[in-house]
Amino acid sequence: MPEALVCGAGGFIGSHLVRRLKREGFWVRGVDLKFPEFAPTEADDFVQGDLRDQDFCRLVVDRRFTEVYQLAADMGGAGFVFTGEHDADILHNSATINLNMLDACRRRRVKRIFYSSSACIYPAYNQENPENPLCTEESAYPAAPDSEYGWEKLFSEHLYLAFARNYGMEVRVARYHNIFGPEGTWKGGREKAPAALCRKIAQIPEGGEIEVWGDGQQTRSFLYIDECLEASIRLMRSEFPGPVNIGSEEMIRINDLAQMIAQVAGKKISIRHIPGPLGVRGRNSDNRLIREKLGWAPSQPLEKGIALTYAWISEQVARDRGGKQPAA
Ligand code: NAD
Repeated sequence: MPEALVCGAGGFIGSHLVRRLKREGFWVRGVDLKFPEFAPTEADDFVQGDLRDQDFCRLVVDRRFTEVYQLAADMGGAGFVFTGEHDADILHNSATINLNMLDACRRRRVKRIFYSSSACIYPAYNQENPENPLCTEESAYPAAPDSEYGWEKLFSEHLYLAFARNYGMEVRVARYHNIFGPEGTWKGGREKAPAALCRKIAQIPEGGEIEVWGDGQQTRSFLYIDECLEASIRLMRSEFPGPVNIGSEEMIRINDLAQMIAQVAGKKISIRHIPGPLGVRGRNSDNRLIREKLGWAPSQPLEKGIALTYAWISEQVARDRGGKQPAA
């Protein structure tokens, strides 16, 4: 039976990845500071602990793992990354995890390791035009990410690629673009735009008003979790090290995303624009490289994933308020 290690298995993408690897017949060890929040883990062995601790990393990494997925990071949406209040923790915690994990994998002679980088590594100067952001893989340089989160990801990309060059490890580096879906953080300050908008719309009555940060004209693309896993696994088992974008090319303005969710919810809404942390003006995945290297790219329409995610978040909202529906 093939065996895999998933670091960050208590988080959104990691917990879904564990489920997917189990379906494929893997024996899976999951590692995280916390257990998954919304459903019991499906890992055969779940080790709770801190990957900033080098001894802990050496304990959980084992030579028998044919696939190691390193997804653990100190992260969140714009409300977490762009306030500046968490910069030191983001840089220190995530970099320490990556330094420790690579060292442990090298010592244990684990060959293949997947690293989840981010579209946040792309330079702010290429993402000022919301209609036409540039996010080809080679446009990462000259580097100018707009957050410390992006700088840490860029540093760690270099770290993984250097371990590949110098120690013969097989690394696979993905740049995720806004992954969303059920069982992701939907409240509390670390949630991303799709989850936050689903929550706000689920919480208001028909004809109600939601708040959106900025003018809502900023563009983004969002990739549904199932396609993120498909792409990650295909990359892991390919001969291409990356870095490569894993994202959707269906770019949408935040105002239009809110209206799409409202339509799925069957509600008319109005939007009030308020100041808030924003990030770049425009961002979209460029899937030419993934298509060329893997012969595959995500293609599911955004609305399909939004419908599944809204259904799950509105259930959480209803459960939170004790099953009561918003007043009409
Ligand atoms: P998440 O926050 O849900 O999962 C990350 C997990 O890492 C959490 O469960 C957290 O407890 C764990 N973790 C943090 N510090 C740890 C430590 N010291 N020791 C052990 N575990 C620790 O995030 P996610 O959305 O599942 O993202 C997974 C990865 O993908 C992250 O590396 C993230 O930066 C990257 N990524 C995600 C997105 C996205 O849209 N979700 C976009 C770009 C990149």
